[in-house]
Amino acid sequence: MRLHESVCQFCSEIGKDPLIVQGAGGNVSWKENDVLWIKASGTWLADAGDKDIFVPVKLDHLTTALKNGDYAVVPQTISSSPLKPSIETLLHALMPHRIVVHVHAIEVLAHLVRKDFDLMNYPTLDKALNARTVKYCKPGAELAEAVASQLDGTSNTRVVFLKNHGVIIGGDSIDEISETLLYLTHFFAVPAVPAQVTTPHFSLRLANGVEFDPIGVTKLHEVAVTPSLVDRLNDNWALYPDHVVFLGPRPRLFGSFEEAKSSLEMESELPDVIFVRGVGTFARETMNKAKIAQLICYYDVITKLNDSVPLSTLTDAQICELVDWDAENYRRGLNDTK
Ligand SMILES: [Zn+2]
Repeated sequence: MRLHESVCQFCSEIGKDPLIVQGAGGNVSWKENDVLWIKASGTWLADAGDKDIFVPVKLDHLTTALKNGDYAVVPQTISSSPLKPSIETLLHALMPHRIVVHVHAIEVLAHLVRKDFDLMNYPTLDKALNARTVKYCKPGAELAEAVASQLDGTSNTRVVFLKNHGVIIGGDSIDEISETLLYLTHFFAVPAVPAQVTTPHFSLRLANGVEFDPIGVTKLHEVAVTPSLVDRLNDNWALYPDHVVFLGPRPRLFGSFEEAKSSLEMESELPDVIFVRGVGTFARETMNKAKIAQLICYYDVITKLNDSVPLSTLTDAQICELVDWDAENYRRGLNDTK
């Protein structure tokens, strides 16, 4: 099988596994001659089998700029495709491996959001991966610079953990990447503790006709009903960038249906999703597939964490720079019709 085909097959497999890839998140690249084939911004890895989701960019141009410390370099697309290369393209150019995969895998993410995440706490992690950790940085130029500072110019480092974000894996073949990804998800796995909840049978209708219906994924009602999860919602909403980009800077949590109704009726810009304590999670029609995938991701992460584990959340300044970012508005816009 040609490299292109095996990468696409791998992408559509991991893209369909919500514990590895959520909606438009994650990106994959491969290098061939002087070309870096990178996933286009806003596209879904799950679509790799049916659609063209990769954009070819000039590799030399990027590596030369990065060697000179130019992290603001803009990737040059080779084809006439209207798609834009991923925001994370520089990470893929920095890693010297033939294939690079960046995902927000739940099992790993549930550790990367912990306040005390440090590789010293995982002494049995395979030393051959020569793993590195990078503190939280805004995706794009800042994150690329932080990752570069951890690499030594060789392909020895096969795994880079990004705190409050995800993981980068480099390898020579899809088999090697698959093996590393599987190893990491098993290594960091912790069982989730689901609770029993039911979907409410009523909707919230505002005077202007806008309706918030019970969300269709039953487990997502737990976030509003299970007291420890409601606490997480309140205290640890902004755990990683995609959550903020797709679901907004803060959760809309209400104490009762009446409170939600009176408050929302005063608002001109309504949220996509609201949480009513002890009742459930309600969404209006703007809650598209990409946003639902992000909320499922959040649920999957917080149910894997013991209630007492302190988490690290993004600061107000870090949230602001994600919410007002044109590059992310573009990515979110591409998903509005999903
Ligand atoms: Zn990412």
